[in-house]
Amino acid sequence: MPEVTPALLVVSAHAGDFVWRAGGAIAAAALRGERATVVCLSYGERGESASQWLQGKALDEIKGIRRAEAEAAASALGADIEFLDLGDYPLRESPDAVAALVDVYRRVQPTVVLTHPLADPYNGDHPAAARMALEARVLAQAIGVANSDGSFPTKDEIIGAPPVFFFEPHQPEQSDFKPNVLLDITEAFPRKRAAMECLPAQKHMWSYYTDLAVRRGVQVKRNAGPNLGLAHETMGEAYVRYFPQVTGVLE
Ligand SMILES: [Zn+2]
Repeated sequence: MPEVTPALLVVSAHAGDFVWRAGGAIAAAALRGERATVVCLSYGERGESASQWLQGKALDEIKGIRRAEAEAAASALGADIEFLDLGDYPLRESPDAVAALVDVYRRVQPTVVLTHPLADPYNGDHPAAARMALEARVLAQAIGVANSDGSFPTKDEIIGAPPVFFFEPHQPEQSDFKPNVLLDITEAFPRKRAAMECLPAQKHMWSYYTDLAVRRGVQVKRNAGPNLGLAHETMGEAYVRYFPQVTGVLE
């Protein structure tokens, strides 16, 4: 098997989503010295910036604030970040948006992809982001699908078949989210907490997602069993793996 360089790609509908839902996985990858890239499809300027609208700020000002917060959070996690500025509420699926994502896939060459689950009755932007992330992943594999500038990819530029993991939505039961992967983020959690604190407008979420990490950490320990000797303070994040695991050995 050829040596592959690990690269994590996170497709986030809004500027804050990747922090709450996948900050531990991102920080853990960075702590291992791996490249992590976040692509925010929008700034969450309309749907997830209520406090700034209530302060009377203008749309462009709010986008700038959310962008700066997301850049600070990504930096705290150790990730690169880019923004497609596709607009939110609603985030519209479009051929241009998918083509832009195909370019991102081919540039980043991800070995793992994280995005939203396909159901979220509270926020249609999240499943729209997931659908575009999945569609672009398939198109980026095809040598006959052009890049957005009209050029065709070489065989080194098309991507392989990176596994896709859906990160936890805010209302997991209503979103049919039943985790089949529990990630130990204990070492990464201080970075996740620091990244959360880069989002002051959603301060109420800091303790919510800290508590959630504690609860998922309990499940990490319960499912790992006693032999791993995980610490009492184990912190966790929950994921759903979308495509089957491919392996020569069942483990
Ligand atoms: Zn969101």
